[in-house]
Amino acid sequence: VNGTLTAAELSTLAAVCEGFVPSLSPEGGDEALFRTGPADVGVLTGVEEQVARLDPDQRRLLGRFLRILDSRLGNWLLTGYLRPFSRLSLEERERGLLRLATSWFRRLRRGFQAVRRLATFNFYSQAPQDGTNPTWPALDYHPDTTRPARSALLNITHVTEPTALDCDVCVIGSGAGGGVAAAVLAETGQRVVVLEAGSGQQAPDFARHEGPGSRDLYLDGGAVTTSDLGVSILAGGALGGGTTVNWQTCLRLPDEVRDEWASVSGCRYFAEESFTRSLDAVEQRIGVNVTETRINPNNDCLRRGCEVLGWRWRLLPRNARECDAALCGQCVFGCPHGAKQSTAVTFLHDAQRHGATILTHCRADRVAIANGRVEGVTATGTDGVGRPHAVTVRCPVVVAAAGALHTPALLLRSGLRLPALGRHLTLHPATCVLGVYDEPIRAWQGQPQSVLCDMFASLAGPYGFRLEAAPIHPGLAASAIPWHSARAHRRRMQQLPHTAGLIALVRDRPTGRVRLSSSGRPVIDYRPGASEQEHLRHGVIAAARVHLAAGAREVLTLHTRQLSLRRGEDVEGFARRVLREPVANNWCGLFSAHQMGTCRIGRDPRVAVCDGTGQVFGVTGLYVADASAFPASSGVNPMLTIMALAHHTAQTMTRGREW
Ligand SMILES: Cc1cc2nc3c(=O)[nH]c(=O)nc-3n(C[C@H](O)[C@H](O)[C@H](O)COP(=O)(O)OP(=O)(O)OC[C@H]3O[C@@H](n4cnc5c(N)ncnc54)[C@H](O)[C@@H]3O)c2cc1C
Repeated sequence: VNGTLTAAELSTLAAVCEGFVPSLSPEGGDEALFRTGPADVGVLTGVEEQVARLDPDQRRLLGRFLRILDSRLGNWLLTGYLRPFSRLSLEERERGLLRLATSWFRRLRRGFQAVRRLATFNFYSQAPQDGTNPTWPALDYHPDTTRPARSALLNITHVTEPTALDCDVCVIGSGAGGGVAAAVLAETGQRVVVLEAGSGQQAPDFARHEGPGSRDLYLDGGAVTTSDLGVSILAGGALGGGTTVNWQTCLRLPDEVRDEWASVSGCRYFAEESFTRSLDAVEQRIGVNVTETRINPNNDCLRRGCEVLGWRWRLLPRNARECDAALCGQCVFGCPHGAKQSTAVTFLHDAQRHGATILTHCRADRVAIANGRVEGVTATGTDGVGRPHAVTVRCPVVVAAAGALHTPALLLRSGLRLPALGRHLTLHPATCVLGVYDEPIRAWQGQPQSVLCDMFASLAGPYGFRLEAAPIHPGLAASAIPWHSARAHRRRMQQLPHTAGLIALVRDRPTGRVRLSSSGRPVIDYRPGASEQEHLRHGVIAAARVHLAAGAREVLTLHTRQLSLRRGEDVEGFARRVLREPVANNWCGLFSAHQMGTCRIGRDPRVAVCDGTGQVFGVTGLYVADASAFPASSGVNPMLTIMALAHHTAQTMTRGREW
């Protein structure tokens, strides 16, 4: 961790954290919640860990921002005080930070969001005191770390020295796409090697709470964002990829979107039986069912609200078997009970039963290509003490399945220059609306998602938004809840046990792009377009109506400028304000758990990266089998579609061309 920021920058960062989450005089009987300060939970340790995982370019930007804050003149320009930030009193720090939050300069709002998220997330997610955090009792948050876990299913190969491997197919990434492709190919007798950049944690290893869970299982420890910080990005970054941490909602690609994909890509199979067969096959293997779906209080707010409003809702099918109610909810940091049917307990297991080798902590750097043919992969494995070792895989076929952010980065690093490579990024931008209820909700307990409202999915053709519930643990909640003062934020957190979270998830058109940073890592440029912003606004209003109908006493949005509504107040006036308020550019908290489309399938190499078989134009033996191959966004939660597409692609690879 040392050396990522200078001592002076770190001390300014400590002063900023103090401004966001200082020790406060107690109220409401919650002594520990208010008295706790950043030093009591080791906020700076967590922040430093996250900063160390940022791209060097982002780290430099953060360092510069902190240096400006700590110069007299710079701080005057930024916060209005002609003294270094660290010399300000707590009240002055608070006022200075608020000035940044609502500055008309985008870069200042960006700087504010960067430090706000780091400070608040780490304050509530670190667990320095025997695996607990002094604020948790007041939040009624008690993650169970004692119940025995299922045993590990997979044998992981650890890189401890320079390594060379020979195989028929190297699969890069072990998530929804990579896991399925590895299984299908291994089952047909191919010698398969899977490279996974993240950790190899399995059920017995999961820490079961947010700090280490995010650090070890999420991409870049959960600190991924778009380049303007306008959208926080959640993605898996460990064995099983997103399927290890996701919320297990299993929705089929709607027929109208299948037709659209067939027409956009020119690949008829999206609308045909062969793709349906792939959907059936993956659904069966991951045990998708609705009979075991149970509605927790968080999801019940969505159900009740829809019932009262007369809006259509339905139970969600999930890929889980025999969930343990006492552990349910912790599965967003890996399911210790093995009930979640992630690729780590399904397809990767199948692949390994057919001889596949799985390496974790092993990042593919480049695909080696000569004369338009794949020759192998060069990668870097990291051993138990953090030493890097060169890994060379010799193989005629590579399946890139590193997710829609890292697959295009890998292909760009490998020297490919197709015009559509990295473009057409879609994110399903989502925002959350919080409802505060009289009764306890504990939104982190129970099955994360069980209810869907898709009344508004087709507002403009097959474009619109869907309403779902979000399992908000304290760190995520704290980083999402708008910060108007340290005390106001702490009071909001005090209400967390009674707070339900609903998300409006928007189907978007391809407006984004992934490019390479100077160190070769993905930079994500994305801003929701005008119609996406409109759908987000209407999504916020719809979610607020659901909360009120379900009995919430107050509703709160994630806008930077406070937007809330108490029961009995003027809903239409609130709706008008929401329609006026900007949502992009850090004026409202936006999230994405679904990244898609950056190496899309199609027939035309000017607008697509892979042909109908998933093979990259101009490179024999290089295939893409993850969310980046989507011809357009899916609208529904994408896991099932990614798996089906990887299944279809891998089958086509073994059978020859099919379209
Ligand atoms: C919190 C959360 C909740 C979600 N909930 C749902 C849900 O309920 N339903 C649903 O349908 N979808 C859900 N999703 C989305 C879904 O999980 C993802 O869309 C899906 O996992 C993406 O599949 P993928 O194969 O494209 O990539 P991933 O599953 O992300 O896998 C990519 C893997 O590649 C690895 N990798 C990256 N670069 C390299 C490299 N250079 N070398 C080697 N390995 C590399 C990564 O570490 C990662 O493990 C959720 C996602 C998140 C994060």
